[in-house]
Formats: sequence, C-alpha cells, structure tokens
Amino acid sequence: MSGIGHLAAGFAAKPAAPQIPLWVFLLAGETNDILYFLFSTAGIEPKSTIVTMDFIQGVKYSAATSNPWSHGLFMSVIWSVMVAVAAFLFYRDRSVSILFGAVTLSHWALDFLMHSNLPVFFDGSPLVGLGLENYGSGFLFMTIFDLVILAVAIFLYFRAKKRLTMQAG
Ligand SMILES: [Zn+2]
Repeated sequence: MSGIGHLAAGFAAKPAAPQIPLWVFLLAGETNDILYFLFSTAGIEPKSTIVTMDFIQGVKYSAATSNPWSHGLFMSVIWSVMVAVAAFLFYRDRSVSILFGAVTLSHWALDFLMHSNLPVFFDGSPLVGLGLENYGSGFLFMTIFDLVILAVAIFLYFRAKKRLTMQAG
C-alpha cells in the first residue's frame, strides 16, 4: 500500500529541522506501511494481494481488503499523534514534534488519493479514498504525481542543504 511519493514528505520536512537525520523523517512518512507490514505479518490485518498493476488496468487486488489498524483515518491520526509525542520526548522541540506529526499524517493524505478502501474508523465504517490507482489513467497520473512530488522534494532538500553548507563555509 505505498508509492514512493511518501518519501517526498520526509525530504520536504528535513530542511525545516536540519538537526534531525533525514532517514528519521523518511521513516515517519512510511509509518502506516511499516505498521501494515507488521500487522499483516502478525495476522491482525488482511494481506492485500495485487493481481495486476499496469498503466491500462491500474491496480487490481485479488480481494478488496480493509486495513483499519494501519490505514484507517482514525488510527492514522492516533499514530501521527504518537509519532509527534515520541519526537517531542526525544528531541524536546515543539516545532520538530509538529513536523513529525505532519509527515506521518501525510501518508494517509497521499493514500487517500491512491486507494479507495481506507476505513474512516474500523471494519464496517465507510471506506474512503479517490482510488486513482484503480483506473489506467488515474494510475498513470498517480505514478507521475509520485515522481514529481518526490523530485520537487529532493530538489528542495538539496537546495536547502547547499544553502546551509554555504552559510557554514
Ligand atoms: Zn500506505
């Protein structure tokens, strides 16, 4: 349940908190997918099996699954708050903490564009999402969108990095 676009949030956030290692931000952006991996391995959430994935048919799953613990809106907000609290305890900085919460929550926002099976609360609650991945043209758009936001974020990251080294030098 992921696109590389999730990494964009980490790259974009890093210049705002230069003291934090980049990989920590990249990890925060993948929180929901890491949880999905853990929960589906533990059997708490169903594993979604992709049958086709191409620019004509989009993404087709063998069965429609719902992953409320890793990808439900309600739990995503909870995970984001938990990441923000953990970041605060670790770094003792309120803006860094808010940044981490935002990076974590950005995962759900991007998945909202991509998927169509995100529960609002738990199983049985309405499933939301624009489901761009389900249609050929939507899938193509989503892929390009992922690449573009990632490229822009990496560009911003290196530009900010260059500025910092110039200041230091
Ligand atoms: Zn995801």
